[in-house]
Amino acid sequence: MLNNKNETPALVDRFGRTVDYIRLSVTDRCDFRCVYCMAEDMTFLPHKQVLSLEELEQVAAAFVGLGVKKIRLTGGEPLVRRDAIKLIRAVGALDAELAITTNGSQLVQMAADLKEAGVDRLNISIDSLKEDKFKEMTRTGKLPQVMAGIKAAVDAGFQRIKLNAVVMKGRNDDEVLDLVEYARSSGVDVCFIEEMPLGHISEHDRAEAYCSSDEVRSIIEERYALQPTTERTAGPSRYYRMAGTDSRVGFISPHSHNFCSECNRVRVTVEGRLLLCLGNEHSVDLRETLRQYPDDIERLQQVIIDAMDLKPEKHEFDLDDEPQIVRFMNMTGG
Ligand code: SAM
Ligand code: SF4
Repeated sequence: MLNNKNETPALVDRFGRTVDYIRLSVTDRCDFRCVYCMAEDMTFLPHKQVLSLEELEQVAAAFVGLGVKKIRLTGGEPLVRRDAIKLIRAVGALDAELAITTNGSQLVQMAADLKEAGVDRLNISIDSLKEDKFKEMTRTGKLPQVMAGIKAAVDAGFQRIKLNAVVMKGRNDDEVLDLVEYARSSGVDVCFIEEMPLGHISEHDRAEAYCSSDEVRSIIEERYALQPTTERTAGPSRYYRMAGTDSRVGFISPHSHNFCSECNRVRVTVEGRLLLCLGNEHSVDLRETLRQYPDDIERLQQVIIDAMDLKPEKHEFDLDDEPQIVRFMNMTGG
């Protein structure tokens, strides 16, 4: 296998951006049906189109050999895939930071095992602290289960847990301060996300529900002064500190503050499609190479290196237009 430790980065695109972070989707399936992420009736992929746990591990190892320093497992809901813990242990043993984005539903049972498997960071999605609203936004989610999961993650010793909330006007924009208070009292960070137009949904009008990060920020500033920080994670969040707490407030603002110029990441869907940009369709099929040459990781790595030339300069999200990206977020690996 290629291994470029301490050498010039292997993954550099045409705009000089080094790719050192991958988001790997473990499954397109989920036990929730969040209104911004999925349609109510979803058809999921047949099993044979989905990478096996071993293939996912090979992909992760190939990227680490190419200098990737951070892997985020996501989905769909990564923790509902059968035997996900086996994959997590294998990826946890690689020489890269391991993070997971989860809806929290499995954390009561799994948090301690995840810690022991080598997971460094957890992002947990929670859009509302009201049971009925949470149910409305996730369609099938149960708030007490997720809140117990967040507590289990804190108790398992995870540091810098980050809560993710997609803010929608008229739905949960009145809960911004409650979510900030909840983060402060739980000793975790909270990040507010602008909804992105991925996939066709009929449940709501994304333009009408759009709540900009600046609006969310001014709601928070009614109570707390937000001090900008230069702290960054490997992702697109911008962080602020508040007095009297270690908890930070972050914003992911694909519409109002385009983050493309600093983009250091690519995604791999559970079908093995390497997506070069969240907001574009540019992609390369890794599954074909994986299945045709299962023992030739260098060949897979060359396909990945060559794919860097396809990474577009920026995404084009337009709320007033039909979505140009027809895949849903659960297919994309959020
Ligand atoms: N199931 C896990 C979860 O919900 O955390 C991981 C996958 S989910 C697709 C990852 C993140 O993407 C979640 O925080 C979710 O809120 C966010 N998300 C999903 N659809 C989105 C959209 N259309 N716009 C913005 N964020 C979205
Ligand atoms: Fe499932 Fe996460 Fe999508 Fe919600 S946002 S439907 S929890 S994948």
